[in-house]
Amino acid sequence: MKVARLYDYLDVRVEEEPVPHPGPGEALVRTRACGICSGDVVPWYIRKKAPLVFGHEPVGEIVEVGAGVTHVTPGTRVFVHHHAPCLTCRACRRGEFVQCPTWRATQIIPGGMAEYFLVPEINLAGDTLALPQTVSDEDGALVEPTACVVKSLTRAGQVADASVLIIGLGVMGQLHVVLARHLGARQVIGADLVATRCAHARALGADVVIDASNGDLAAQVADVTTGEGVEIVIVGPATIDALELGLRCVARGGTVVQFMGTPPEARLQLSTNDVYFREIRLVPSYSCGPIETRAALRYIEEGAVAARQVVTHRFPLAAAREAYRVAAEDRSAIKTLVTFGEA
Ligand SMILES: [Zn+2]
Ligand SMILES: [Zn+2]
Repeated sequence: MKVARLYDYLDVRVEEEPVPHPGPGEALVRTRACGICSGDVVPWYIRKKAPLVFGHEPVGEIVEVGAGVTHVTPGTRVFVHHHAPCLTCRACRRGEFVQCPTWRATQIIPGGMAEYFLVPEINLAGDTLALPQTVSDEDGALVEPTACVVKSLTRAGQVADASVLIIGLGVMGQLHVVLARHLGARQVIGADLVATRCAHARALGADVVIDASNGDLAAQVADVTTGEGVEIVIVGPATIDALELGLRCVARGGTVVQFMGTPPEARLQLSTNDVYFREIRLVPSYSCGPIETRAALRYIEEGAVAARQVVTHRFPLAAAREAYRVAAEDRSAIKTLVTFGEA
């Protein structure tokens, strides 16, 4: 089978390797679509893992199951989460799935950018979701990114009737706009340095979009919130500057969500006086677990989230190198998918 292996930032090579065989409790999936994630194009992050067959937003069809597998059958179209928790450890029992040692150790084999991949027993049991007929392959490829947004907006507190600022309008920012709107936010504000992304967020329902290249964002946010700032700030860009900006835009009693991991050496200087007396919560939201993937699939099934809202580019696996370049560097790209032809 063909796989796309990531060696370094922008260095993707399509290679051949054997199709894996499912052992007891496992399943083999023929891939139908797989998204390129914002994290896949962060150089320091992928260099920790490279070389690897990247892709963790896959949809496919089960083609073979190992001994003892009875709850899914060949022919079923599925979304598979690449990480699955044990559901029994302390972290799992508290709902902190990404802190489960099993969650971190699990992965699909070799990855989503492959014509076939193996689903280990724990992923098959814990976070493999059959897709309803009405959910297309491309919609299904949004389960994982949407689930990350579900978690982020859950951690943000009550979104209904809140003002929400989303800094960074790449695909994850756009999905935040869509879901914040869907959850009844009073005011949705998007901010980015790229005019086309601002326009995209406007079309998806943002009340206000701010081109952050037109001067200080905090001042512009103050202008549209009668000087109060916003109750929820989602910080997309993985930089200290963006986090500091988020802290300057948040209202008293508000929440700043750190949505992406900053590099290991990054440090934030925080005014603990300001954080204390204005009662600002700074909360991280890393990835997602089985509760959020199920919620995401429900939003997709009911049509609140759909591929047509965000998917702008599609490539076959043979063009994975170009797909990666577009996802990493083309500012007109919101979501880039790799699609796989019928067998
Ligand atoms: Zn992802
Ligand atoms: Zn666990």
